[in-house]
Amino acid sequence: MSLRTIITLPDSILRRKSHKVTSYDREFQTLVDDMIETMREAPGVGLAAPQIAVPYRLIVVEFGDEENEEKPKKLFVVANPELSQHSEEKVTAIEACLSVPGLVGEVERHEQVIVRGMNRFGKPVKIKARGWLARIFQHETDHVDGILYVDRASRVWQPTEEEAQVIAD
Ligand code: ZN
Repeated sequence: MSLRTIITLPDSILRRKSHKVTSYDREFQTLVDDMIETMREAPGVGLAAPQIAVPYRLIVVEFGDEENEEKPKKLFVVANPELSQHSEEKVTAIEACLSVPGLVGEVERHEQVIVRGMNRFGKPVKIKARGWLARIFQHETDHVDGILYVDRASRVWQPTEEEAQVIAD
């Protein structure tokens, strides 16, 4: 496994629609492992392949239970993610992105989503997510379409040290 470099704006790879994953070979397994390691090292709660300059529809997410912090974090690997059954309810919260350093923004997202795609072995997966987990999946799935949270944000700003601390937590 090795750490990959996270690219940032204005790198145009971040703005492209990524290719579908069609092969789950050894090279792909290495990519998945590298993405998990890179996400953990950053540290981040999610990472999409285009963020390490690999234009494929692949995301990794690792997030703990909001209500029970003692529960172990759950790791998700989803190739070709598709979101559906959005709840009517939308929620606004502050997001940041490893590929957009030094900024945060206020973004409205669906409170609940169903994520469908393939796991790292090419088997279909279906994940029901709500709250922050649903937000992370929406943020990461946008990345494979070349969309960044700043495109959806009602406002974007440079956080004060105090704000950055809160968001990092
Ligand atoms: Zn991001």
